[in-house]
Amino acid sequence: MTRKAELQKNLTEVENRIAKACQAARRPRESVTLIAVTKTWPASDIQLLHELGMRNFGESKDQEASQKVAELSKLDINWHFIGQLQTNKLNHIARYANVVHAIDRAKVVAGLDTAAQKSAREIVGLVQVSIDGDESRGGIAPAGVLELANLVTAAQNLRLGGVMAVAPLGMDPDLAFAKLLEISKALQKVHPQATTISAGMSSDLEAAIKNGATHLRIGSDLLGKRA
Ligand SMILES: *Cc1c(COP(=O)(O)O)cnc(C)c1O
Repeated sequence: MTRKAELQKNLTEVENRIAKACQAARRPRESVTLIAVTKTWPASDIQLLHELGMRNFGESKDQEASQKVAELSKLDINWHFIGQLQTNKLNHIARYANVVHAIDRAKVVAGLDTAAQKSAREIVGLVQVSIDGDESRGGIAPAGVLELANLVTAAQNLRLGGVMAVAPLGMDPDLAFAKLLEISKALQKVHPQATTISAGMSSDLEAAIKNGATHLRIGSDLLGKRA
């Protein structure tokens, strides 16, 4: 099988799962954006997925991402930076990222806004929530979400998109994403434009769709098992 046929097969399977989950949740398929998480995979795979109609791609390491962005600069791609944010990388990330998913502290908001201003770009920022309140693996505890979101909305070149989360290890993803939906609803009462819920990976996309996810970040079930 060619790599393109393999990717096509994987994409069809993922799309079937999404369609089924949307149907069960009585949601239109268009209410969910599929992001292909291409970390560790070559730019040629992004090219092939682009030929198959994909337009949203997620990367988590700046160096790897910038190489691919440079190589694929002729393609119309919406780049999602989904990795943890180191403040010394923000200047660079701001040059290519359209959406930054893992904003989890005030220092990152300030740094990313300054970087976006330097690049004369507007970047959509999502607040990463640590659903179980354990901030050691990234994300801010639920109690801090609104305050951080307020900083994003006040930033000149950032636009608040909404929230992002990874289901905590050992927690039922259905329960985790139900909590995330509550947090998102509370946030939208203050910031009605913050409608994005980035949740759901290969193993738990159904639970994410059931609980209102608008963006899925799918790596291994689309591209294969990472080395
Ligand atoms: C790698 C990664 C994903 C994709 O995970 P899969 O299980 O391969 O689908 C999603 N979100 C984040 C933040 C990631 O780092």
